[in-house]
Amino acid sequence: MKAAAAGYIRANDLAHAISLLEQSRGEARILAGGQSLIASLNLRLAGETALIDINGVAELSGIELVGEQLRIGALTRHRELAASDLVARHVPAIAQAAPLIAHAAIRNRGTIGGSLAYADPAAELPACMLALDAVIVLRGPAGERRVRAGDFFIDLFTTDLAEDEMIVAVEVPVAVAGERQTTMELARRSGDYALAGIVLVDRPSGVRAAFFGVGPTPILATGAMAAIDRGASPDDAAELLEGDLQPLDDVHAPAAVRLHLARVLLRRALAATRS
Ligand SMILES: Cc1cc2nc3c(=O)[nH]c(=O)nc-3n(C[C@H](O)[C@H](O)[C@H](O)COP(=O)(O)OP(=O)(O)OC[C@H]3O[C@@H](n4cnc5c(N)ncnc54)[C@H](O)[C@@H]3O)c2cc1C
Repeated sequence: MKAAAAGYIRANDLAHAISLLEQSRGEARILAGGQSLIASLNLRLAGETALIDINGVAELSGIELVGEQLRIGALTRHRELAASDLVARHVPAIAQAAPLIAHAAIRNRGTIGGSLAYADPAAELPACMLALDAVIVLRGPAGERRVRAGDFFIDLFTTDLAEDEMIVAVEVPVAVAGERQTTMELARRSGDYALAGIVLVDRPSGVRAAFFGVGPTPILATGAMAAIDRGASPDDAAELLEGDLQPLDDVHAPAAVRLHLARVLLRRALAATRS
């Protein structure tokens, strides 16, 4: 089925994109990689809308080391995350996550900004941002706003993004000395969305474990994290996930299966970062 788009305009630069968004008064959507949006329009899951194409906005591209942060432009493609030396060196959790996203054709077009704005609870990159305690940089007519990932993902497919704002970049703290990171997931087939996944950031100051596919948003397993920091065994920490996660029953897996997979992943991820 053909997409039900009510109009299309290509933004020349960031100021143009924001002014188009403001003028549309909530009637237009940003078009980035189109890998979720166009599919939703084709399937009539999203209502007819005008599209503001940001693919020509140069300010939204690029990966740059700025002090102790890696600044990743919103238009950075999943393929670029997977290929970046800066990402591999400074935020290996993202380098490991990118190849797990869908298939090569989708990774060629899909963007980090699109993935975070779409906020699929089974997506890898929102969980990376949460585990890494990244900041999402938003821009709207009133200027720039920075939101920590922990406050950005509000509910199923719902974020703190206002209708006249867009994501311009993310700022991710780089790994400190002695820090180990790992991203793992369990899916039925390579390329499928995960049934459950984990991003584990094992810092000398404490562990951060964010899970995906086991609740309406990416979730920090705060009970298990505190237990690990107190020296609990991986088995004992895994037991506490029952209180941390809220998996949902759906056609792909019952909640109990997702919780079991999350426990398996926590034990595996701890073994990987502490081996
Ligand atoms: C078959 C298939 C399998 C997939 N599997 C996975 C998977 O395993 N893991 C995974 O994470 N994803 C998966 N995806 C989704 C894919 O990663 C998408 O690319 C991603 O979710 C959206 O990125 P996009 O750049 O394509 O965004 P678009 O589709 O262009 O936009 C998605 C939404 O985000 C908004 N948006 C886009 N950019 C911005 C911005 N800068 N600021 C504000 N709003 C913005 C749009 O308006 C729209 O509402 C899959 C997609 C398909 C079709």
